[in-house]
Amino acid sequence: MERPSIDPSLEYALRRVEENIAEACARAGRDRDDVRLLAVTKTVDADRVNQVIALGVKQIGENRVQEFLGKKDALDLANVRAHLIGHLQTNKVRQIVGQVDMIESVDSERLAQAISRVSVERGIVTPILVEVNIGGEEAKSGVAPDQLEGLLEKIHDLPGIKVRGMMTVPPILTKESKKRAIFSKMYQLFVDNRAKKLDNIDMLELSMGMSGDYVEAILEGSTIVRVGSAIFGARQY
Ligand SMILES: *Cc1c(COP(=O)(O)O)cnc(C)c1O
Repeated sequence: MERPSIDPSLEYALRRVEENIAEACARAGRDRDDVRLLAVTKTVDADRVNQVIALGVKQIGENRVQEFLGKKDALDLANVRAHLIGHLQTNKVRQIVGQVDMIESVDSERLAQAISRVSVERGIVTPILVEVNIGGEEAKSGVAPDQLEGLLEKIHDLPGIKVRGMMTVPPILTKESKKRAIFSKMYQLFVDNRAKKLDNIDMLELSMGMSGDYVEAILEGSTIVRVGSAIFGARQY
């Protein structure tokens, strides 16, 4: 694909985010390579997505199956991994399996089974993360922390999926100490479940942190930060 012409303000915003990630890693005594930036591209047009890819972004995240499939052909994804990060309905599973490199938002046995079934049919194994509702908010998707272990036990040996870790969208908090406390709780859950070493589960990835809190998330052990508006600007719906 042709190299897109780069909007300098987009480049500036991306560099700022990358600097903040590097600083947070240094502050936490973590290796910079332990944390991956996933640029969240929902509502962003393909040309701007291709600009951040040209600037070196290696992972993108989309929320909606329809939106992603609608722009996928226009994206330069040759060296880029795409993750589905939004709530997935079982009736969309057929459309998305095989189209993304990871599904981060698996929060029920039924959904895991559907993804596994379609993946087996297509001869692939789909990497997934289990989404946890760490803040216990009613309107949010994700499995409750006390249901996580039960869900992992039910899905870990499904043949068409591979559990690679956990993801969360925590409540929006303003105080740094509160943000860190909730990420720390999530990290503890991650470590506890990693220690159980269930077959077919590689607890490698902890996807947490968005534009308003990715620094705190890195300080508390995140391995994937999902950053949208801090790179692309406020979303216009
Ligand atoms: C939109 C979205 C993000 C990115 O949000 P920003 O605040 O714009 O960084 C991250 N994760 C999920 C699941 C999202 O839906």
